[in-house]
Amino acid sequence: MPETRHIPSIARDLASGFAARAGRWDREREYCWDNVRELAQAGLMGMTLPRAYGGQGASWHDVVLAVEEIARACTLSARIVVEGNMGGISAVMAYGTEAQKRLCAPLVLAGDKPAICITEPGAGSAATDMTTTAQRRGDRYILNGTKHWITGGGVSRIHLIFAQVLDETGERQGIGGFLVICDPSGGDLPEGFEVVRRERTMGLCGMPEAELKFTGLVVPADMAVVPPSGFARGFADLMTAYNSQRVGAGTVALGIAAGAMDHARRYLLEREQFGRPIAEFQGLQWMLADMDTGVHAARLMLHEAARTTGPAGFPDMTMAARAKLFASETAIKVVNDALQMFGARGYGDAEPLERMYRDVRMFTIGGGTAQVLRTQIAGTVLGIRTPQRRETPQTRALAAE
Ligand SMILES: Cc1cc2nc3c(=O)[nH]c(=O)nc-3n(C[C@H](O)[C@H](O)[C@H](O)COP(=O)(O)OP(=O)(O)OC[C@H]3O[C@@H](n4cnc5c(N)ncnc54)[C@H](O)[C@@H]3O)c2cc1C
Repeated sequence: MPETRHIPSIARDLASGFAARAGRWDREREYCWDNVRELAQAGLMGMTLPRAYGGQGASWHDVVLAVEEIARACTLSARIVVEGNMGGISAVMAYGTEAQKRLCAPLVLAGDKPAICITEPGAGSAATDMTTTAQRRGDRYILNGTKHWITGGGVSRIHLIFAQVLDETGERQGIGGFLVICDPSGGDLPEGFEVVRRERTMGLCGMPEAELKFTGLVVPADMAVVPPSGFARGFADLMTAYNSQRVGAGTVALGIAAGAMDHARRYLLEREQFGRPIAEFQGLQWMLADMDTGVHAARLMLHEAARTTGPAGFPDMTMAARAKLFASETAIKVVNDALQMFGARGYGDAEPLERMYRDVRMFTIGGGTAQVLRTQIAGTVLGIRTPQRRETPQTRALAAE
């Protein structure tokens, strides 16, 4: 196992190999299994797991350093490193039972990118409106419902499925997470678990975004991930893990922007028009200066957020929201400007700019939209929580739980 101080240089070395293949995963819409094997062998999958579970006890900040390096070359691989350390697996390690941790850790260390299943056709930003249910029946839960836009759906082995928990009498107890381990790409799907379809996305094309359907899916009761507060506050507690994922997602966006700037810098010095390198035109120099300033500021915010400690050792919620918001919006602008600097060449596939431009667009949407993050940040600044929901007697009763 490498020492954590070597993580950035290991990531940099891997990234140089990934750069040549990044276009292939995009064109072929293929999951990068080759890169996954290399990431796992290098110890970057599950690096945040404690040593007792085979990890390196690496910090969120270590992950951020690795993810930026990898995202400069291959967005797909960088997302896999994020989700192999943050998000679903970090929720299990923080709130799961000993048996759940022992079950999941080896899979992640071997390269599995857990799928976190929250979003539904009728419940996006309003995630708690989910209608998937987990009904208690003796020592099992029976899951019914549909999730969509599930990253890794069809390739991930670990699934953390969020559902409305109903007791034996059908009374709602709150929202819980349920672990289902299977191997969809190896043809091993439990009865009642269907990978319905894959979205055709504009970017991040090698990563399946799938619709999953659960029909009477049986989950043993000991596969419920129940935070100490129980199901009543289960969703809020489990979602603290999302604060690490948000920092990770922001860092992927940062890495794409930094990579796009590397390409732009090279091209400005190389391309000549009007008898001189285009790097000498002040119009482009000022664009580059703004890009550099934005990237630098985003990096500082992400590093700061990664180093804060909120509930259960996850980054502070507001810091994570601010950093993801700023990094994702900045990255979209930076990549757009980098593409502009290439003129027509940036619009074609001779350069990776068009792929980076399609990839980076996602980061103000997935994992909390820019609007939802702004609402969260404003709530912290103002010290008030403004209900987004049109209130009814039922919603008031639910809020009081
Ligand atoms: C590539 C990708 C990967 C994803 N991966 C996963 C995954 O692995 N697991 C998972 O569970 N989900 C995943 N998602 C889903 C993602 O979390 C949702 O897309 C996101 O939460 C927004 O939900 P929505 O798309 O339904 O948009 P909606 O909630 O319908 O929002 C539509 C628009 O309204 C705005 N809006 C909504 N509510 C408010 C409000 N209160 N104030 C102001 N504006 C508002 C939004 O910002 C947005 O602009 C993924 C999405 C993408 C694109």
